[in-house]
Amino acid sequence: MSSSLHHRTIHWFRKDLRITDNTGLRHASEISDDVIPFYSLSTWKNHHNWTGAPRQQFLCECLESLDANLRSIGSQLIIRHGSAFEEITKLIEQSDATAITFNRDGDPFGRAEEQQLEEFCRDRGIACLGFIDAVMHSADEVLKSDGTPYRVYTPYSKAWKKLDKAKARGRLRALTMPQDIESEELPTLDHWEISLPEEYQHTTLGGEKEARKRMKRALDGIVQDYKNTRNTPHGITTSRLGQDLRHGTISIRELYGKVEHILNSTTSSSVRESAGTFINELAWREFYMQILVHYPHVYDQPFNEKYKGLWWSEAEVAFERWCQGKTGFPIVDAGIRELRATGFMHNRLRMIVAMFLTKDLHIHWRRGEAFFMQWLLDGEIASNNGGWQWSAGTGADAAPYFRIQNPWSQTKRYAADGEYIKQWVPELANCDSKLFLDPPKDGSPIADDYPLPMVDHSEERERTLAIFKQNAE
Ligand SMILES: Cc1cc2nc3c(=O)[nH]c(=O)nc-3n(C[C@H](O)[C@H](O)[C@H](O)COP(=O)(O)OP(=O)(O)OC[C@H]3O[C@@H](n4cnc5c(N)ncnc54)[C@H](O)[C@@H]3O)c2cc1C
Repeated sequence: MSSSLHHRTIHWFRKDLRITDNTGLRHASEISDDVIPFYSLSTWKNHHNWTGAPRQQFLCECLESLDANLRSIGSQLIIRHGSAFEEITKLIEQSDATAITFNRDGDPFGRAEEQQLEEFCRDRGIACLGFIDAVMHSADEVLKSDGTPYRVYTPYSKAWKKLDKAKARGRLRALTMPQDIESEELPTLDHWEISLPEEYQHTTLGGEKEARKRMKRALDGIVQDYKNTRNTPHGITTSRLGQDLRHGTISIRELYGKVEHILNSTTSSSVRESAGTFINELAWREFYMQILVHYPHVYDQPFNEKYKGLWWSEAEVAFERWCQGKTGFPIVDAGIRELRATGFMHNRLRMIVAMFLTKDLHIHWRRGEAFFMQWLLDGEIASNNGGWQWSAGTGADAAPYFRIQNPWSQTKRYAADGEYIKQWVPELANCDSKLFLDPPKDGSPIADDYPLPMVDHSEERERTLAIFKQNAE
């Protein structure tokens, strides 16, 4: 006789594509004889506004790795095509499962799916168990003393840091599953009828093993010198773990625990400061996640509702030039080209190109947000929306809208040696780097096949101030 609570439990994989320290999966293995590891694959074709071929390719690699890892412990991934809700309800019937586990997802689509499933299970007497796994602290755990959510990062992060932190559990060693459950094949991009763009170099691979290599590289070096390197866009100067946290191929508890260990065990004040700064970034991630949960209107409206009626330009040609990295501002073009070549853009560049789109071209942040979602491997609604609204001046920011970064001064401050620009904008590879620091003085292009700056930053800055002032008063 089995002593388990359940005979069969479905674990619904979502943004938790790992077997190490996976809260919901571990729980399923503890309460059940058999666990059915399940993933539902979206069925849209050709185009999706919130994802693109690079991230779908990364997802395919994560699923392949997850399946291989599950096989190594006696199981396998069961894949079905269709909406998660419908496929899970079918699987319940086919498998006679009496319980479902999943890790909670804070974005509006994820939460709607969870609610639908929870209602269904309640009606059928099926145990439906959702876990906090993607964050150190859920949105309802970090609240002001009066029980309301934070709107500003600094007090949020202070409260976040004070809370006790859960420790990581290890890798699952064994998992048993029923033999009679059929799976679709692991996907390739053909499933969505899409292919990788020509310029995409496909250098970042998905899966738990690759993620762990990146985590080791970050902990061995980058995290320890982070305060000095984090604002330099050239080279690998940040952890590059965004896509792994996004897809759950590393556990946030494991990453946090390892960084905290560096912080507590070092005798170097510089290393301590670096590790502390890195932890602040992990808190930023959770700050934006709780904003999306508590203020869901940010999904398509300004966080700061005062700016609802703000005027935005519909200049299509200008938007297209920005998307192609052909604005004539070398730093902006380098950022966009890096994104299109690698699926990554350094945080400093994300701010520069986002401010340029919204405050120099006056184009709506939602258009930039969607473009980023199509190209970023780490594309995540909460952080992306938070970053875009912060840059546009409509978001959760303690500083007011007149924080307008000047792309030329930003170049002088963070990329003055020209290396970053030359790497990503080949037309400029043979230019004197000094030419990247100011608009061309004689009014002629700095290279034959490179355009003149498409706007005058000082003029557009004044225009932005005027637009905001109208709504602020
Ligand atoms: C306009 C804009 C859009 C953005 N879109 C996204 C997005 O879609 N997905 C995403 O994960 N991040 C986004 N960010 C935040 C940040 O740029 C990336 O998290 C970071 O560049 C990822 O690189 P990394 O892993 O090397 O970061 P590191 O500097 O090594 O930081 C470690 C981790 O902390 C978190 N983090 C760091 N900075 C931030 C931040 N400002 N906000 C939230 N989390 C942060 C990330 O999970 C990151 O992986 C955006 C920022 C801006 C300004």
